[in-house]
Formats: sequence, C-alpha cells, structure tokens
Amino acid sequence: MLVEISGKQVEVADGASCADALQEGLSKKQFKNVVAAKCGDAIVDLSTPVTETCTTIEPVFADSEEGLGIIRHSAAHVMAEAVKKLFPTAKVTIGPSITDGFYYDFDYERPFTPEDLEAIEKEMLSSVGANKEFSRTVMSKAEAKKLFESKGETYKSEIMDDLGGDEFSIYTHGDFADLCRGPHVARTGQIKAFKLLSVAGAYWRGDEKNKQLQRIYGTAWEDPKALKKYLTRLEEAKKRDHRKLGKQLDLFSFSDEVGPGMSLWHPRGMLLRAILEDFERKEHLKRGYQLVQGPIILKRELWEKSGHYDNYRENMYFTEIDEQAYGIKPMNCLAHMIIYKRKIMSYRDLPQRYFELGVVHRHEKSGVLHGLMRVRTFTQDDAHLICRPDQVEEEILDLIKFYKDIYALFNYEFDVELSTRPEKSIGSDADWELATEGLRQALDKSGMPYAINEGDGAFYGPKIDFHLRDSIGRSWQCGTIQVDFTLPERFDIVYVGEDGERHRPVMIHRAMLGSIERFIGVLTEHCAGAYPVWLAPVQARLLNVTDAQADFVKKAEAFLVSKGIRIEADTRNEKLGYKIREAQVEKIPYMLVIGDKEVEAGCVNIRSRDGDDPGMVTLEEAAQLILDAAKAPFKAGGMSYSFSG
Ligand SMILES: [Zn+2]
Ligand SMILES: [Zn+2]
Repeated sequence: MLVEISGKQVEVADGASCADALQEGLSKKQFKNVVAAKCGDAIVDLSTPVTETCTTIEPVFADSEEGLGIIRHSAAHVMAEAVKKLFPTAKVTIGPSITDGFYYDFDYERPFTPEDLEAIEKEMLSSVGANKEFSRTVMSKAEAKKLFESKGETYKSEIMDDLGGDEFSIYTHGDFADLCRGPHVARTGQIKAFKLLSVAGAYWRGDEKNKQLQRIYGTAWEDPKALKKYLTRLEEAKKRDHRKLGKQLDLFSFSDEVGPGMSLWHPRGMLLRAILEDFERKEHLKRGYQLVQGPIILKRELWEKSGHYDNYRENMYFTEIDEQAYGIKPMNCLAHMIIYKRKIMSYRDLPQRYFELGVVHRHEKSGVLHGLMRVRTFTQDDAHLICRPDQVEEEILDLIKFYKDIYALFNYEFDVELSTRPEKSIGSDADWELATEGLRQALDKSGMPYAINEGDGAFYGPKIDFHLRDSIGRSWQCGTIQVDFTLPERFDIVYVGEDGERHRPVMIHRAMLGSIERFIGVLTEHCAGAYPVWLAPVQARLLNVTDAQADFVKKAEAFLVSKGIRIEADTRNEKLGYKIREAQVEKIPYMLVIGDKEVEAGCVNIRSRDGDDPGMVTLEEAAQLILDAAKAPFKAGGMSYSFSG
C-alpha cells in the first residue's frame, strides 16, 4: 500500500503499523522522537495498523504540544502503576494531562507525604527503565467492568456508566491496566524526563459533597534539558509568587473571616489599584468611551431575559428584597443595554462606547481559587461597544491598537487567538458568519499573527483572546473581544438608520486587562513586585542617617510631594544599612539618602532599585529624575500620555 508521510510517498506492506510507515518515511534521528501518529485529524498510537481509510500519516514529535500531552498522560498511567504497587489499597480514579504536566487522583486513606512521592518517583523510574509496552485492547462493557471490579477499582465502573456505550478501550503496560481512550506512547521508555511535584486534596468529580481524594501532580517533558528548564521556571515563579509578594510589599491579603476568593486591599495596594484604574479611565475617555455604572444587583427577570439564568446560573449568587428576586451580576452587559435604551439613538450616535470598572461576583469552586488569579469577587475593566454592523471592523481594529499600546507599557508580548462557533450556540448562521468574518478581517488588516481556536467561541458569538507572555515565559489570558448579535435582539435595542427605519445594532463585549485583581497578580509576578515607576505606590523613600537630619527630611518630603511624587520618609532610629535593605525588599524604585553632607549642600543621595547610583543631586534634580522615569514607558510605548494630565 502507498502512504504519504510528510509529503513523501512510501510503500508499506499489508498489516504494517503507523510506526512501520513512519520509520520508512523519516530519518532514524527523526523517528526516535516520534511518540504517536496523526491520521487526518485523529492522533493514534504508533501501533495502529495502516488502513486504506487513512493513507496520509504525519509524525507526532515528542516536543510538540500534542506529543507532550501524550507523554504527560502516559506518565500519569505510570504513576498510577507505581502507586498501586506501593499502596495496594489505593483506588485509581482519573489521570489527565494538563498544561505543563499531569495529575492522577487516588482514593487513599491518608494524604501522601513527600517521602511517598520520592518512593513513587523511584518506582516510576524502574517502570520507565523496563521499557514496558503500552497495549490497547477493546472490551465489552461487561468484560471491562469485571476486570476493574476484580481489582477493586469501583471508580472505573462509575466512569463507564457515565460515559455510556458498550465498548471501552483499555491500555495496559506491565501489570497495570487503565480505562482510557488513548493514545499513548509506544513504550514507557519514551517518558524520558519527569518529576512529581506536589500533593493536594481534590474531590471526586470536583464536588465538595463527594469523597476527598489525593491528587498527585507531576510534570513530564521531551528530554531532561526541557525538564530542567521548566523546574528552574517553577523555582523562579515561586520566588515571584504574588501571594508572597502581596504580603512582603503590604499590598493585599485574604482572610477566612471575610470569605474565600475575596481580596482585601491595603493602603499601598489600593493606591496602586487607584493609579491603574485612574489611568484606564483616562485612556478610555481619550478614545471616545463614556463612563457608566450599573448596580451590583439586578432583578432576576433581567437575567432570565439575557439567558444568563438558563446558561450561567450555577456561577451566580441570588438574593431577595421585598419578595423580589435579584441576581448579583457576574457581568456588566445588562445595565449597559438599559443605559443605551434611555433614549432613541440614531445612526449618527453610534458607536456608543460604555466603559465601567464593574465589580462582579462569580461562584468559582473553592478548589480552583488561587490568590488574585482566581477569585470570587473582582473588578472587570469592561466595555460594551454598541455599533452599526458596518462599524464592527473599524471598532475592532481600534481595539487591537488600543490593547497593543497598553500591553507594551507593561513590557508584555502577547499571542492572539480567534475562537469560532462552538457546537452549542445560539443565533443564525448568517450572524455567526458575519461576526467571525468581521473579527478575521480586522485581525488580517492589523497584520497581527493569530491562531484559530476552532469551536471555542462563547455560545452567543465568536471572540478574540489576548494571551500575555510574562517575563518567565508563562502565558496568561487577559484581554478579550467578543462580537454579539444576540443580546441586542433579546433586549430589543435599536437605532434609527439613515432610512428612518429601526435597525438592530451589534454589541461588542470587551475587557482589556480583564480582571483588575488578576491583572495585578499577573503583573506582580511578571515584574517580581518591582512595578514601573509610574505605577509604584511608593516611588521614593527618604532615609536619614541620624536624627540630626530630621528637619531637612521633612522639608525634602514636602517639596517632593508638591511635585506630585509619591514619597515616604523613614526617619526611624535604625542603621542606614537596615533601612536600605528594607526599601530594597519592598522594591521601592528610589532611595534618597540624607546625611550631614547632603543637608549642608541642600541635596539628596539617590540610589535606585536597579543599582544605578546617580549620587548627590539637588531636590529639584531628584524630582525631575523620578518624574522622567515615570514618563519613560509611555514614550517607549509610543503613547502620548502625560502623567499629571
Ligand atoms: Zn490513558
Ligand atoms: Zn458584556
């Protein structure tokens, strides 16, 4: 039979496997790094026979996204094998691959300890060393149930009942068999670099009412070098953990007394937020947005009308006032539409661009809450652009430019994804086509490279997602742009066209930074707490050497405050070295040291956080230097933004 391998025609024998075919079509060196095969859109085991139905075969390499997913998921199987060997009474549940790694949930009588993890890792190494083959068999439901029940694996039975169907595939390597759709690496020896990372409690099916399980997290990579790089990144991430820095810099905290997933903002953190939010308001006003605000709670009927009650209810909170049910808003769209409807809009009034720093509440499961990155109460920098269909493309182009300018200010590079219509969606084919084309054409015109995420749009419309890449290579989804034809329809919002008739406008939902909380969390880790000077809540700190300079410190403080600089004075009776060390830990951009010599000259001695030492300068010069540093990123980002304006 003739098959095509990466564009090359190769003759293979009847009954040959994908591995045989790939071996023919690739060099030895290339083939060594192949973990699976791609037949059309399907990724299959290398052992899968080549058939007439798929004669175009592509290799899946170990270092590709798909290849890594397969290696990681295979590592989860090997981990389960090791756990069952060391702790025979543990029951296996599920073990998927995740971003950068994998996990497996076990039902076991106690949490696993770090020593257990070491032992499990050792056992895994021995399984990898034995280079066991992964083999796939298909069984009837009855057979599969019998197999797992004989091993006491009750969860697998439950999973089969849930999945439905009469046949299931089972993957076996060594003595360990698992219910699994596959694919897998051909042999355990292809799992060349892995490490177990941590244990956490997790509930069966993520439901707190169910039994608590023990989840072991691990990571696996194509080779030891890639693993090492990742572990170094993890170490770096730990150092930058925003929850740790939040305490160290006295910015924000969480409290059990208040509730999980709800942040408390301390004076310094709130100042940082206020500067960021103030900046956002100004930037939006400059671009023709109008500031609006709706209430936190809105009548339940409104959420029924919008479809949120049907599609999003589990994530919402409800309350009752005077026998009227209310929903606490998880999004800001509805009030904006009511605001739009306050008067008759004509085609000349469009687009209407409403901006709100809107506080929303979403019920996230307690297990997924994580510092500021995943909270239950947060503020979105949300806007709704209500425009004529012919304005959609230009609005989106402007948005892309806007986002680009702002992200550059924080030294972010970013990736863009266009998500198209999902299987479950509302709205007509024509509307989806129009909306998706609008987004696509705007992206093409912007010249920005983008990936397409087939079927990952919102149920009411396609969207563009912006993923920020941070300084240690992680990616964070922050900005979105969504085109929506449905809500205008449901709320019957209209404009009067040139023809004097009523027409339906299009609604664009968009958030640039996303959640302010999350953005600050991401930014804190991106810059390791050393915020750009324009945003730092404390830009400079005055440090005196002895009490003798106290009066001059006061005078200097008053002068710098008058120049609009956010300054603190540390006049404690501590050693200068100690005070400098503390300012460094708090990542204060500038330390202004004042000793007798400086008092005499009417100067300060500047030391910067980055190690620059401009030395002795006058107060006037010090003020200018700090103000220039605060403006610098705006110049670099190509924005004409005056800090005081
Ligand atoms: Zn599997
Ligand atoms: Zn919205």
